Amino acid sequence: MTALLQVQDLSKRFGGFVALDGISVSVEKGERLGLIGPNGSGKSTLVNCICGTLQNETGSVHFDGRPVDGLIAHERTRLGLARSFQLPRPFPSLNLADNLRIPLLYTVQARSGLLRSAGDLDNRCRDLLKMVGLDAKATRFPRDLTQVEMRKLELARAMAAEPKLLIADEAMAGLSHSEIEDILALLVRLNEQGITVILIEHIMRAVMSFSQRIVVLVSGRKIADDKPDAVVNNPEVVGAYLGQ
Ligand code: ADP
Ligand code: MG
Repeated sequence: MTALLQVQDLSKRFGGFVALDGISVSVEKGERLGLIGPNGSGKSTLVNCICGTLQNETGSVHFDGRPVDGLIAHERTRLGLARSFQLPRPFPSLNLADNLRIPLLYTVQARSGLLRSAGDLDNRCRDLLKMVGLDAKATRFPRDLTQVEMRKLELARAMAAEPKLLIADEAMAGLSHSEIEDILALLVRLNEQGITVILIEHIMRAVMSFSQRIVVLVSGRKIADDKPDAVVNNPEVVGAYLGQ
């Protein structure tokens, strides 16, 4: 298999505080990877460094066969690196279709020159809303949405960039059992369409059913990187996270 994402020896400090300490992770094309660890262990910081919203001090990030270290966030998005935010960040004054029109225009259109007509854009917005089951609400606003709908919109916004890699940062926090199943099924569907997915999640049932491999961060260090069964039986992981 070929690595789609390769993070090598990455470190990030905030002032004197070491948030990430020499992290190396590689993700294969088509893989479903779980990323877990206690609150504050550096998961979102790692995502921010991979996506270019934060600048790491040491280490490198390769994506799809090229180094992306010198690229800013939207340039990385155009290469196919997308993430959903832990706290959804829709454009509050735009309706749902327009929330998707923005990433379509600024990534897909900018990258490929496709979607030339307004009709193309409308169709693409509708397809994306349908994919997450929000097509009936295309003209509604983010404030009209329930929590699970908001998280689906956030995933659709990430998907609008037509990514090769989707990083879902705690997309299920606060959801009910059936809502979690709903989001999981959506992520599996996307993966089956060929999208590589990194799932950051505290809900172990969801992580275990989704992941082919799990990476564990504790205090900015990677303490495990293995098959799910091996990870949940790893005494260091149990001691530092799962047993808490
Ligand atoms: P996680 O996503 O695993 O809960 P984070 O990556 O958000 O953890 O945070 C890791 C650590 O870095 C935490 O101690 C957090 O307080 C700190 N941190 C994150 N972002 C910043 C920032 N912008 N400035 C200072 N400290 C930060
Ligand atoms: Mg986080």
